[in-house]
Amino acid sequence: MATTPLGLFAIDGLLSDEERAMRDTVRAFVDARVRPHLADWYDAGTLPARDLARELGGLGVLGMHLEGYGCAGTSATAYGLACLELEAADSGLRSLVSVQGSLAMFAIWKWGTEEHKQTWLPRMATGEAIGCFGLTEPDFGSNPAGLRTRAVRDGDAWVLTGTKMWITNGSIADVAVVWAQTDEGIRGFVVPTDTPGFTAPEIKRKLSLRASVTSELVLDGVRLPADAVFPEVRGLRGPLSCLDEARFGIVFGSLGAARDCLETTIAYAQQREIFDKPLAAYQLTQAKLADMSLELGKGMLLALHLGRLKDAGHLATEQVSLGKLNNVREAIAIARECRTILGAAGITLEYPVLRHANNLESVLTYEGTSEVHQLVIGRALTGEAAFR
Ligand SMILES: Cc1cc2nc3c(=O)[nH]c(=O)nc-3n(C[C@H](O)[C@H](O)[C@H](O)COP(=O)(O)OP(=O)(O)OC[C@H]3O[C@@H](n4cnc5c(N)ncnc54)[C@H](O)[C@@H]3O)c2cc1C
Repeated sequence: MATTPLGLFAIDGLLSDEERAMRDTVRAFVDARVRPHLADWYDAGTLPARDLARELGGLGVLGMHLEGYGCAGTSATAYGLACLELEAADSGLRSLVSVQGSLAMFAIWKWGTEEHKQTWLPRMATGEAIGCFGLTEPDFGSNPAGLRTRAVRDGDAWVLTGTKMWITNGSIADVAVVWAQTDEGIRGFVVPTDTPGFTAPEIKRKLSLRASVTSELVLDGVRLPADAVFPEVRGLRGPLSCLDEARFGIVFGSLGAARDCLETTIAYAQQREIFDKPLAAYQLTQAKLADMSLELGKGMLLALHLGRLKDAGHLATEQVSLGKLNNVREAIAIARECRTILGAAGITLEYPVLRHANNLESVLTYEGTSEVHQLVIGRALTGEAAFR
């Protein structure tokens, strides 16, 4: 009697009824509404993000772990499980939700004024308004401390000038959270994207995350009212607090991509006959499947442990790094190994495996590269910061 990779680990028994219900709702949505179209969207390099955002808002997934302002206020673990189901479809879909909920909405929820929150959060929770998060610049990715976008006071106004790069949802956003240098260090600004001087050209010809909108943000003398700035937070503490949220979602999400690869591959190996018997009946194949299932299950146990720590209010930055480093690294290894089992069939969009592997190249890089997470963990272990 065959079981699934996560079934082997009896993961369901570790989830509450509410968590299982949320997971099943998102999985059903993804299967009905997203999966049938993914290969075409990926091939064309598009995503109907506005329509999907409204539907995801209707499901209560956008900013779901935040309290108030129309957000569902679920546990962090339930949010993680939703990310897993979304990324089982495609990392681009999970990126849409992560950037909306964990980066743009969280930044406003955590650091914004009451007016920022009232203006944006209810509309972002329903998917009526889309947000993006502009931290990375052409010359500053892993080292955002050096960013060059500048905000200067001009009478009562702020004027922003600079360029952001690789910004998810940029061209479709109604509001951008933009981090800029000021005389008091790095500060965050809430920028309506219809403000004169703001443009967001889309980045094309991507080989990864093709079903996701990625853009440049050009700020050419963007003039904002005095209250557009987050009032309290100064320095990298602001953006890094948001990155921890999004990284947490990736700890779970990356496992969704891996699970989809593994389940697809097991089904393929069971029906593919080679040398007169199913590929699944060969010891070499089973060794691969066993090793991959082990890594998937271990990653899931780690994700749930981190989820419980977060729900208890005890999750530290370096622990998020443990999860992001391990789970994305193992997910991409699983996707590549699965591709070998599919043979030539694995290189097409008929199967999701190479699509996931290609997507995970981006996931490996954004929200802190593997090397950056190794350095965060290394600092925690030794007390020595080796970033520079
Ligand atoms: C599809 C996609 C979507 C994205 N969405 C967003 C978004 O919405 N908002 C946003 O702000 N950013 C976004 N990013 C940007 C992303 O966060 C950056 O790409 C990431 O931080 C890495 O920066 P970089 O690409 O400039 O690489 P670099 O910083 O140039 O790094 C290049 C290499 O150097 C390594 N490296 C860096 N520091 C060290 C060190 N101290 N020692 C050894 N090696 C080191 C890195 O690990 C990497 O391997 C996105 C990126 C992608 C690909």
